Amino acid sequence: MMGLAEDGGLLLPRTIPRVGCETLASWQNLTYPELAFEIMSRFIDDIPANDLKDIIARSYDTFTRNEITPLAHVGEYHILELFHGPTLAFKDIALQFLGNLFEYLLDKNKSTLNILGATSGDTGSAAIYGVRGKERIKIFILHPHGRVSKVQEKQMTTVVDDNVFNIAIRGSFDDAQAIVKKIFSDVDFKAENNLGAINSINWARVLAQVVYYVYSCLHIIDHEKDSSLDFAIPTGNFGDIFAGFIARRMLPEGTIRQLVLATNSNDILSRLVNRGDYSLGEVRITSSPSMDIQAASNFERYLYYLVDSDATRTGELMEEFLKNGSLDLKSYQEQIKRDFTAASVAEDEVLKTIAHYHAEYGYLLDPHTAVGVRAAEQYKTTGIPMICLATAHPAKFGEVVAEAVNTEPELPENISAILTAESRCEIMEANANDIREYISTHAHGKDEGK
Ligand SMILES: *Cc1c(COP(=O)(O)O)cnc(C)c1O
Repeated sequence: MMGLAEDGGLLLPRTIPRVGCETLASWQNLTYPELAFEIMSRFIDDIPANDLKDIIARSYDTFTRNEITPLAHVGEYHILELFHGPTLAFKDIALQFLGNLFEYLLDKNKSTLNILGATSGDTGSAAIYGVRGKERIKIFILHPHGRVSKVQEKQMTTVVDDNVFNIAIRGSFDDAQAIVKKIFSDVDFKAENNLGAINSINWARVLAQVVYYVYSCLHIIDHEKDSSLDFAIPTGNFGDIFAGFIARRMLPEGTIRQLVLATNSNDILSRLVNRGDYSLGEVRITSSPSMDIQAASNFERYLYYLVDSDATRTGELMEEFLKNGSLDLKSYQEQIKRDFTAASVAEDEVLKTIAHYHAEYGYLLDPHTAVGVRAAEQYKTTGIPMICLATAHPAKFGEVVAEAVNTEPELPENISAILTAESRCEIMEANANDIREYISTHAHGKDEGK
């Protein structure tokens, strides 16, 4: 539950369990929750099996499809639909689980947690849906007032459970982020109020995401023949693709052949793979906003494996990156290229890709997924299945999709209902002291959220 380790580094399991061919074959007919249990229980030794099964079952009950992450065959590609959770983005897969896991652990310790975070859209709503109604958890989410999409705003503010506090800041996402950082840097305040974060660096989030890679292998590989497959992953904070990296290390050699790292025009990670240059640029606003990221928070985890599991060296490199905003990793280039292939996708190509797959196959891609599919096209090999991760429902980014195909995609029924539902949100100035006061008033009170 701690997120960061005490020395400021990230946590990783000491060893990654291996799954042999026979075990993999024996998983063939498992349901998604059953498979999730098999995988997670190999990493978790302090939660009794039945409790873990129950946490997993409740986490995926909220998804609208029995398969949880169904696969669609579109042209030459398999599209892994990760968006059938309550907020229509793949973050639900990890955050539904994390909410239930936190609740379970807090209950064991008889303690409470106040989650504080800033969001530009997707993470905030998925986090709110992960913890809504949970007795020992309160959540305070800051978003920039009027600067998130209508659907995203409604997804957050129509959750009127007593433990949910939406705060719209008169300012930008960066202002909201800066306020959160400032409040977290006050160690006393943090301790007094049991403040915690729910960001992408939590190991349990990565773990939950390993499951759908294995799920895809089970459903697509022909186990009679010796075959392997490729994945294309729209990448921002490097959490999703890092889960693929872990899955590859767990599975029999060669099962996952290629991990295609797809970025939008915020291309630091594709520059790293293709040129060994890891240096920060300006954040560019694109049509795939959940990937408008320069310093990917999970990259540190990969770095650790890149330097042969040397934590000291990892720490030194991270410090250097923090100081200079860049790292020269050219001496590791060969290994990086064995681990990933990469492409950066320009804005006009995103729209063209959405239009093409709609015209050709009647299938709608959201702009994030389109970035992944476009990158996949550059690395597809005949005879090897390519799985493109679909990270958001097209209706969640309907305006961009409409620009590409001239019609706005239809919202699923459960989502269109929220557009007119009761909503609640505090609108506040971008002032850290005011926000801090608000949190301390509501963090302890019994009659919350009013
Ligand atoms: C968060 C997000 C991503 C990026 O995933 P990372 O794990 O941060 O690399 C891609 N697409 C959508 C829709 C997202 O919400």
